[in-house]
Amino acid sequence: MLPVLESLLVLQDRDVKLRRTLKELELLPSEEKAIADKLKFQMSEFEALKLRTNQIESERKDLDNQVLSKKAAIAKYKGAQLETRKNEEFQAFGTEIERAEKTIVELEDKELVLMEAYDNAQKAVAAESIRVKEFEKAAHARQQDLAQKKINLQAAKLQLEKESSELAAQIDSVEVNRYRRLLQSKGDIAIVPVENGSSCGGCHMKLTQQTILNAKSAQKVTPCENCGRLLYWIV
Ligand SMILES: [Zn+2]
Repeated sequence: MLPVLESLLVLQDRDVKLRRTLKELELLPSEEKAIADKLKFQMSEFEALKLRTNQIESERKDLDNQVLSKKAAIAKYKGAQLETRKNEEFQAFGTEIERAEKTIVELEDKELVLMEAYDNAQKAVAAESIRVKEFEKAAHARQQDLAQKKINLQAAKLQLEKESSELAAQIDSVEVNRYRRLLQSKGDIAIVPVENGSSCGGCHMKLTQQTILNAKSAQKVTPCENCGRLLYWIV
């Protein structure tokens, strides 16, 4: 293989790794955000559940107060019944008492329904509390993993950048520039092997006999006539 291609291949190896590292670094913020969003959503759902549970209890307490005031009204009507001498008034108070007693029964029925609902809601809160805590724990562990991953990737990035520039400094700058332009424009790799002895390892198009011979003889840098990537021959 041409010595310059050999050096460029080593450089390409670092550059490809560097590009992969940069891509992974780019993805980190969205991964971090996804975890934070999920956690926030779980927390707000849990808060909403607790709020609904408290609302059930406060509705029940409200009914309880209504029962108490109906009971107080009954006591008042009973007192008034004792004081009145008019039969009509006595009966009117009696009707009010009956009406209030009926309302109390209705209110207490509703209270029973709410008590059961509250009981179920409390059980749901307890179960959710455990689940949310575990979710939070897992999310924090994942966040820590990502933070560590970021440190590792940044260290790898620095190392690869250093290696890449050191390697590039040892190669003819014209060749390095040509290689870098190719790498940039192709988006993947710039130096490829001749595939199956007949086609380009980059674009997979069939190469001409002359190009194959040039690559094989390794006397000069041979680009693929189709994509321009630089070819080398694998023995
Ligand atoms: Zn090609």
